[in-house]
Amino acid sequence: PGLLNRILGREAPAPARPAAPPEPRRELDDAMLEDLEETLIAADMGVDTALRVTANIAAGRMGRRVSASELRGWLAAEVARIMTPVARPLPLYAKKPQVVLVVGVNGSGKTTTIGKLASQFRAAGKTVIIAAGDTFRAAAVEQLQVWGQRAGVPVMTAPEGSDPASLAFDAMVRAEAEGADLLMIDTAGRLQNRADLMEELAKIVRVIRKRDPSAPHNTLLVLDATTGQNAVSQVETFRKLADVSGLVMTKLDGTARGGVLVALADKFGLPIHAIGVGEQIDDLDAFDADDFARALVG
Ligand code: GDP
Repeated sequence: PGLLNRILGREAPAPARPAAPPEPRRELDDAMLEDLEETLIAADMGVDTALRVTANIAAGRMGRRVSASELRGWLAAEVARIMTPVARPLPLYAKKPQVVLVVGVNGSGKTTTIGKLASQFRAAGKTVIIAAGDTFRAAAVEQLQVWGQRAGVPVMTAPEGSDPASLAFDAMVRAEAEGADLLMIDTAGRLQNRADLMEELAKIVRVIRKRDPSAPHNTLLVLDATTGQNAVSQVETFRKLADVSGLVMTKLDGTARGGVLVALADKFGLPIHAIGVGEQIDDLDAFDADDFARALVG
């Protein structure tokens, strides 16, 4: 792979003989910076972030003769600098139940992520209850039940088409009665009717606050990395619909280059709590800024 090969050529192989040719160098000029900008934009970083990253790399280095590995190192350092502050695992509170509201468009990986998180919490010795709050999609409820079974966590459901807020309230009561550590609430992702969805999410928040004014303690927005720059507009939209406290980025195992994560971190500064790297229950990793920067730059 290697994001910069197009600009500077492959890194020279480790010298087999002492006389191996040195890595080619090119002068850091406007043309090279334009190439770099284009590469970063093509990698889904977005124009604003690509321009800023390029300017930071250029600062004080114009006219220098640089090698591919030097440029790669500067880029990785710049990406890591942007990503380090947002690489934060989901905070766990002593508060029982810690209420985690999960939002995102349909297909982003909400159900899967709830299952994976529930499994990790269980492995950490926590008791978890899941509420299947997307009551309008029978398939979503069924799928969440399957994930609940896999994770060994009860899933509360309500009849199709019933009020998700009343399910959320019942789930709060049960979680309190059972002394559960965490209550994860799935929600609908019908962005086609934003006013409806906004009212639905607001009502869920209102009723759970009747039981605990400090809830929800986290509002996780699940984003699909393969949607590229669309993820940016999804954050903008969901921040209007709910008090988003952190992100989970799914499908980073596929062809997604993940450059959009840099744009998101640069633009919103919301914590990235975890990344989805597959369809299995263990395919949820902590987000590591340095690993990510190295993988992105190649
Ligand atoms: P929801 O509609 O937001 O609840 O989305 P789902 O959880 O049903 O996920 C939609 C599809 O994406 C399913 O086929 C999942 O298996 C898949 N998926 C979710 N997370 C990941 C991931 O991290 N990697 C991959 N490759 N697929 C994922």
